[in-house]
Amino acid sequence: MDVLNFINGKYVPAQSGQWLDNFAPATGRLSGRIADSDETDVDMAFQAAKAAFPEWSAMSLDQRHDILRAVADGILARLDDLAHAESADSGKTITTARTVDIPRAALNFKFFATALLHFASESHHTPGSLSYTLRQPIGVVGCISPWNLPLYLFTWKIAPALAVGNCVIGKPSEVTPLTAMMLGEICQSAGMPPGVLNIVHGLGPKVGAAIVEHPGIKAISFTGSTRAGAEIARTAAPMFKKISLELGGKNPNLIFADCDYDTMLETSVRSSFNNQGQICLCGSRIYVEKSLYPKFKKDFVERVKEIRQGDPSDPENRLGAVVSKLHFDKVLSYIELARQEGGVVLTGGHALEMPGDLSGGWYIAPTVIEGLSTNCRTNQEEIFGPVVTIQPFEDEADALQNANNSPYGLSATLWTNNLQRAHRMAAELQAGIVWINTWMLRDLRTPFGGVKNSGMGREGGWDALRFFSETKNVSLELGGEEL
Ligand code: NAD
Repeated sequence: MDVLNFINGKYVPAQSGQWLDNFAPATGRLSGRIADSDETDVDMAFQAAKAAFPEWSAMSLDQRHDILRAVADGILARLDDLAHAESADSGKTITTARTVDIPRAALNFKFFATALLHFASESHHTPGSLSYTLRQPIGVVGCISPWNLPLYLFTWKIAPALAVGNCVIGKPSEVTPLTAMMLGEICQSAGMPPGVLNIVHGLGPKVGAAIVEHPGIKAISFTGSTRAGAEIARTAAPMFKKISLELGGKNPNLIFADCDYDTMLETSVRSSFNNQGQICLCGSRIYVEKSLYPKFKKDFVERVKEIRQGDPSDPENRLGAVVSKLHFDKVLSYIELARQEGGVVLTGGHALEMPGDLSGGWYIAPTVIEGLSTNCRTNQEEIFGPVVTIQPFEDEADALQNANNSPYGLSATLWTNNLQRAHRMAAELQAGIVWINTWMLRDLRTPFGGVKNSGMGREGGWDALRFFSETKNVSLELGGEEL
């Protein structure tokens, strides 16, 4: 299958005529070609978006709402097609794609379609003056997204950008482009005018960089690695573009002996390995209170060994393949590093041999490692795969010290039934999101994002709508007769 750009309402190849290979992680085989776009394609997309902007930004809120709601419905109407494409392209299980990725992509459109109707601004009065704030669309904006939750994270940016009245140039990951391509025709069928959403495919340092460098694209919303985020900031900052950067993570999962044990255990298995550990919010550093550590270690390893892994298209499987050969090699090299650093592999620690058609696929057994210090590379660097470390802690201060000893600060999970301790620690944890006795609980109205090397800016709710709008203050003196 050829993955084409979607520009001005039409599917077109890259102007250069060049292609990239696309692979299926489940089998390791070639599955198609992807348009290998460059700055020429970005400029074509920009011209289309610029031409579409006056009509889209001036459209009544009701009309824009109706189109974005119709996109949400269009995604749900094709749930099965999209879920199959997402699973085939990324190696995630069909169950994850069907129950998480695609419904959530629809929800992103539904949520921001409604939010735009309620987006209001402030006014400030004094006895003699009035100031009010306008929040206007920026114009043409760029949305660049990663491979781990392809359509889910792509729409998380595109929906609020469009809701405010901007036109968008979107770039999905070159590793998982299929569902983004399908989104083009869904938007068109929903009545979105040509040029409002344009999607260009290809390599990050080539077409992604061209979006960031384009002088007409005034805001960049990026989700991906800390390394690419830093490059984007280097280019965009001197051009005074608005940037929102959602970057890597190395999240702590802190478990106290007084927690609800069964819920904690079941959730910790999920928070470690869901989507093969390829969720930026996965808790990859597990710290357990010393008195509970032996029991936790035994039960956790037992539960991890029971996880059913294999063909991503089998709805019974809970784990599939990792996303690419490059990533497969990277994750295995970190397991090797962990061994060199003195880590003891309690389960997993190797690639999985699969039968038949799947024998060339990229499967890694869920891996639990103990015996490492917080300072070692395995615990400081993002692996982003099915690998967690476990480590005991002494007390609250020790737990906090370990949790915060990281260059990252995306999320943290805390398991305790001590209410005071929970809130005390939530305030001290260096993270943009803290979950207490739960994981991945998401309310789309809440701010989403990280601190330290996990990025800058917040997505979600009003934060996203504010990011994608330009703020203007209008002030006037009220005048009038002296009484
Ligand atoms: P990546 O940085 O390699 O690529 C992300 C996107 O950016 C892709 O579309 C890529 O083509 C593009 N890109 C790469 N270099 C670029 C450049 N120089 N200029 C412009 N665009 C560029 O990341 P990835 O490997 O696709 O995704 C995994 C990473 O994403 C992990 O670090 C993970 O933690 C992070 N992530 C973060 C969040 C979050 O919300 N904080 C969510 C999901 C994933």
